[in-house]
Amino acid sequence: MGDTTGFLKIKRKEAGNRPVHERICDYSEVEQILNSEDRMLQASRCMDCGVPFCHWSCPVDNIIPEWNDLLYKGDWKGAYNRLSATNNFPEFTGRICPALCEHGCVLNIRNEPVTIRENEVAIVERAFTEGYVKPQPPAKRTGKKVAVVGSGPAGMAAADLLNKAGHEVTLFEKDRKAGGLLRYGIPDFKLSKATIDRRLDILMKEGLIVRTNTQIGRDISAHEIIDCFDAVCLAIGSGYPRDLSVEGRNFEGIHFALDFLGGMNITNEGDGYGADTRINARGKKVLVIGGGDTGSDCVGTSVRQKAECVTQIEIMPQPPVERTSQNPWPFYAKVLKTTTSHEEGCQRYWSLSTVRFIGKNNHITGVEVEEVEWINENGRTVPKPIKGTRRVIEADLVLLALGFVHPVLEGIISDLGLELDERSNVKVDNSQSTNIAKVFAAGDTVSGASLVVRAIASGRSTAKAIDNFLKVTSKV
Ligand SMILES: Cc1cc2nc3c(=O)[nH]c(=O)nc-3n(C[C@H](O)[C@H](O)[C@H](O)COP(=O)(O)OP(=O)(O)OC[C@H]3O[C@@H](n4cnc5c(N)ncnc54)[C@H](O)[C@@H]3O)c2cc1C
Ligand code: SF4
Repeated sequence: MGDTTGFLKIKRKEAGNRPVHERICDYSEVEQILNSEDRMLQASRCMDCGVPFCHWSCPVDNIIPEWNDLLYKGDWKGAYNRLSATNNFPEFTGRICPALCEHGCVLNIRNEPVTIRENEVAIVERAFTEGYVKPQPPAKRTGKKVAVVGSGPAGMAAADLLNKAGHEVTLFEKDRKAGGLLRYGIPDFKLSKATIDRRLDILMKEGLIVRTNTQIGRDISAHEIIDCFDAVCLAIGSGYPRDLSVEGRNFEGIHFALDFLGGMNITNEGDGYGADTRINARGKKVLVIGGGDTGSDCVGTSVRQKAECVTQIEIMPQPPVERTSQNPWPFYAKVLKTTTSHEEGCQRYWSLSTVRFIGKNNHITGVEVEEVEWINENGRTVPKPIKGTRRVIEADLVLLALGFVHPVLEGIISDLGLELDERSNVKVDNSQSTNIAKVFAAGDTVSGASLVVRAIASGRSTAKAIDNFLKVTSKV
């Protein structure tokens, strides 16, 4: 532990964001980078607590106090080695993780947690700049072949570890480029796609085979994959969006959030692909239904596309500004979140339900909404409409950001007859194994829509389970 009283002397200092007037004119990353000296001082604030609750809060078990200490001492390479031992892609989580660790940080009892997420990205970016993130192909190959289906963070993490274990790994992706929701969901202003390309380049130099534009269950049958590989890791995400079945749903101008966000990311790839078919918010009154992070991404993207105005509504009540007694430290703080996109210009409303869509000439013109209060009914909290509160919000583009229900079941899941859990996610046992021999599953496919860091953690444990399975089966 470098500086035992660092947290008493140094205040939390964030790198900060680019000014709003500048950043809304492009799709470059919003967050800035802190200079190295300040970054090391920020690391000195880590208290090396007896029980590091940050570590407990982090799904990939990052050994945060250790790399913070190395960072404080200026051993950037040592910090990187410690960080990359538990996280395949700190350059992703360091940018877009909601930093569950910081909620658990002991200094967060006083609302001044260590800047763990920013420290993480600083360490990995320094590692790339100094050139010690290098391809490290396995010393020898096992002769075993593994198919990983789906190239989001879960599939990438599983493929990375299995390849490093010496197996021949093919990562299949139905889209034109690998990355899953990192690529075609999360906006460029949160995560630049060059960051994904840089990592994929290393993985491929290590021997990972990446086959894009290949949908398993359509271009290659699910059974063929089973026949041709010794093990299969299914990491196809949770792609079935939640819909809103109210009157007028079929009007033109109502879209799922991901179609809007993915279209923008494809256009930003810059090769002209998708530009003519993308949903465009330019000059439109945009209404985003759904108050979560995907909704917030729709806000930021609409603002950059020069929407006339943007409104975001949520059926749940407005969260409190500070933790309540039912939500104590070190648990994740369920408090009001104002994202960088909200700062860029958006009207937000809570406790509003959608009554019906209103349209003219078959196109959406507005949405009738109604205020609700949340009451307890037979032990369940349910929304109760408040009489006389109906009104219409004008809109000529409506984006449904209501989350995802479960993975797409048609195709590989139904073709293989994979067993599902009660929420229609793929059911796995303690070793991430499905009911079908040699088929394993990881990420949102198993958990339902979640977070990048949880997908990486799941990909890592599935890779270990597959590696064990291959070792056992090669002995029999
Ligand atoms: C708009 C949006 C913003 C988000 N922002 C954040 C954020 O800021 N921070 C955060 O932590 N999380 C965020 N998330 C959640 C996060 O992106 C997901 O939890 C994570 O990507 C899940 O990883 P995954 O690998 O399980 O699945 P995915 O990333 O969904 O990847 C699955 C991949 O499988 C492919 N696939 C599907 N079927 C087949 C098939 N049959 N054959 C071949 N390929 C197939 C898909 O094309 C896709 O590329 C966001 C999600 C969305 C939608
Ligand atoms: S991955 Fe997320 S939770 Fe874990 S240390 Fe990084 S920012 Fe914190």
